[in-house]
Amino acid sequence: MHSTPEPNANLPPNDSIQTCLLRTRGVLTNAGVESPEHEAALLLQQVTGQSLTHLLCQLQRAPAATELAELERLLSRRLSREPLQYILGCATFYGRDFYVDSRVLIPRPETELLVEQFAGLFSGLSRNAEQLRVIDVGTGSGALAITLACESPELEIEATDTSREALQVAAANCVRHGVRERVRLVQGDLLSGFRRGFAAVVANLPYVPSGEFAELSPEVRVYEPKLALDGGPDGLREVRRVIDQAPEALVCNGWLLLEVGEGQSGPVETLMRQAGCWTDVKTVCDLAGVGRVVLGRHSGTDSQPSSL
Ligand code: GLN
Repeated sequence: MHSTPEPNANLPPNDSIQTCLLRTRGVLTNAGVESPEHEAALLLQQVTGQSLTHLLCQLQRAPAATELAELERLLSRRLSREPLQYILGCATFYGRDFYVDSRVLIPRPETELLVEQFAGLFSGLSRNAEQLRVIDVGTGSGALAITLACESPELEIEATDTSREALQVAAANCVRHGVRERVRLVQGDLLSGFRRGFAAVVANLPYVPSGEFAELSPEVRVYEPKLALDGGPDGLREVRRVIDQAPEALVCNGWLLLEVGEGQSGPVETLMRQAGCWTDVKTVCDLAGVGRVVLGRHSGTDSQPSSL
């Protein structure tokens, strides 16, 4: 008999990897975590240092005391609603793993749509001898900028963020993915200080309306950086500013691609149309049918030095 109290008395004791998995899944289920089975497997992989395949071959093995202690430690972090990606120090974006911690927003699958749209616009130009310059505004972990660099070797990328701490994470991810030479990290306020010459401006800026902050899940509200989420009263404070600044940074016919929140694509399209210097303005929906990426082409002026 076990004398130590278990978090859930109905579940089996920790006498094998399998029972550890079941117990962890049960505890996560009871805590209301969305994907308890998946998360339990990831936590066990983390504490054993084994891939899922190896783990499944060892289901009957008794876990080491150190593994059990580590599992309890990670599980209690997760039960306090810390996002799993911060606990594991890893988030997957567009098939690549990025280091993340509480200094940066966790890359979201929705943002992969921005990568796809970018690829659609620029694939035809990839054989040009000239390098294309692209800027990612509000880069955070660097996931977007680094993905573009990895996917398109002809791109020369600048990535900016107002947070010095976020840029430290982005720098680590640039090294991890071997693009330190091609992604230049700059601390700054949106596009301020950047001169013309970019073929594209891409941005996943903070867009959560301040009043909706309280409704976010505790994982997001308590642990993710507010600076990366809070978009002011209507959520569009930073988006509006980047729409104002982008014409100065883009070449003639250069593209602006913005990720936006639910219900924001209409107002953002309107902002771009009213500015009078954008053409081909449109919204692309994500897999949930939410207007997620708004894009437009800078119609420019003759005085600009180069064009697409
Ligand atoms: N997609 C994030 C969320 O809903 C918000 C990201 C952002 O503000 N850019 O939590």
